[in-house]
Amino acid sequence: MFTNEYLTKVYTKLEKQYPFEPEFLQAVKEVFTSIEPAIEKHPEYVKHNIIERIVEPERVIQFRISWMDDNGNVQVNRGWRIQSNSAIGPYKGGLRLHPSVNQSILKFLAFEQIFKNSLTGLPMGGGKGGSDFDPKGKSDAEVMRFCQSFMTELFRHIGPETDVPAGDIGVGAREVGYLFGQYKRLANEFTGVLTGKAICSGGSLVRKQATGYGLLYFMDAYLKDNGMSFDGAKVVISGSGNVAIYAAEKAMELGATVIAMSDSNGYVHDPAGIQLDVIKQLKEVERKRISEYVKAVPTATYTEGCKNIWTVPCDVALPCATQNEIDLASAEILVKNGCKAVGEGANMPSTIEACKCFQDNGVLFGPAKAANAGGVACSGLEMTQNHQNMAWSAKQVDETLHGIMNDIYKKCVDAAETYGKPGDMILGANIAGFIKVADAMVWQGVSY
Ligand code: NDP
Repeated sequence: MFTNEYLTKVYTKLEKQYPFEPEFLQAVKEVFTSIEPAIEKHPEYVKHNIIERIVEPERVIQFRISWMDDNGNVQVNRGWRIQSNSAIGPYKGGLRLHPSVNQSILKFLAFEQIFKNSLTGLPMGGGKGGSDFDPKGKSDAEVMRFCQSFMTELFRHIGPETDVPAGDIGVGAREVGYLFGQYKRLANEFTGVLTGKAICSGGSLVRKQATGYGLLYFMDAYLKDNGMSFDGAKVVISGSGNVAIYAAEKAMELGATVIAMSDSNGYVHDPAGIQLDVIKQLKEVERKRISEYVKAVPTATYTEGCKNIWTVPCDVALPCATQNEIDLASAEILVKNGCKAVGEGANMPSTIEACKCFQDNGVLFGPAKAANAGGVACSGLEMTQNHQNMAWSAKQVDETLHGIMNDIYKKCVDAAETYGKPGDMILGANIAGFIKVADAMVWQGVSY
């Protein structure tokens, strides 16, 4: 399976233990495939059994969330917090509200978060949480009652020095506000226990834009290093949520034309360039479907089914919706149509086979752990501001974010070179993220 015997042994055991967690196993496999040279070089990781320890979350908390809908019916959902690894700092990672949420998806996200947070250079461990609650079609009052019930259980497990959740799919400013309000009430303290807060309650400027902007900062450095740029490039972006919108905004600022965007129902193709103010109005204000875009912009076309967005020819593809949205068939179409670079804004949006296809065909590939780390990096800056009781200017946050993304890019390039595979950004990101956490675990002894 892997050429390294130790990794094979741990993975085989994991497969037996968690046969019903395919996303988690996929995320682990992707990391194991690329950290082999680091394991060979550092026998202390084997001696301290770091690998078997790092794949097992320190804590998996599962709970019931009961809440009352607008018709007076009692609804029940399942909630989780996966506290994956605290070797380099308090658990940190978002909360996802989507009907597809289950333990496998949250464990994969929490596992990836360990390495992503490490890459930022900030002291943050890995965590993730969420619920199978679907915010779509719910009233504000229903979302509030759900969030309050969710936090009523979660609050005892988190804290500004323990575990600091944030947003993810289905959790934006509205949800973070309801969660924060309930935490404050239960804990009787006003602290930076969540990030992604509103500016009026200790949030950071630029947090909303950070994942999308960060993705573009990372890919911009990557393109330039390879003699290309966003200027004049045609860009396709999946999704039309938080990450996608601000990736599109920065891509346009850098001179690109964004020609297609999607939601879970379908995609719009606008060869003249997507009008972002229309998307923002539909998605951020009215919470409507992307199909409505063509009413405002009749020259654009709408196609039902989001997967076919990858058939639109482009120079750069930025998957910013969800996991496994680019399979091998989609990757092959992108390559055939001349796509030169792929930057992952979503978490694990490309299957292992799709990643290999991009790399085999010389497509510049920015893996999620590195390329979308701008969101959590900015959350780290929000935590710093909260600890300082200070609010930084937008310029200060944005420049710091830009610097962090350039550093992450460089760390990946350097690690790929040091470990014998120059240009392999998947290997570079995984090893650079892993080493710091592994060293911290060795240093701290067998304490957990
Ligand atoms: P949002 O909820 O704001 O937007 C998600 C977008 O993706 C929506 O357009 C949604 O469409 C679409 N989408 C969601 N699920 C699916 C699906 N199963 N199939 C197709 N499309 C889907 O989430 P974010 O923008 O915050 O997150 C997007 C991705 O980025 C996720 O993978 C997340 O983990 C990752 N990420 C987010 C960060 C952040 O700071 N927010 C940080 C780092 C990574 P619809 O409206 O129809 O549901």
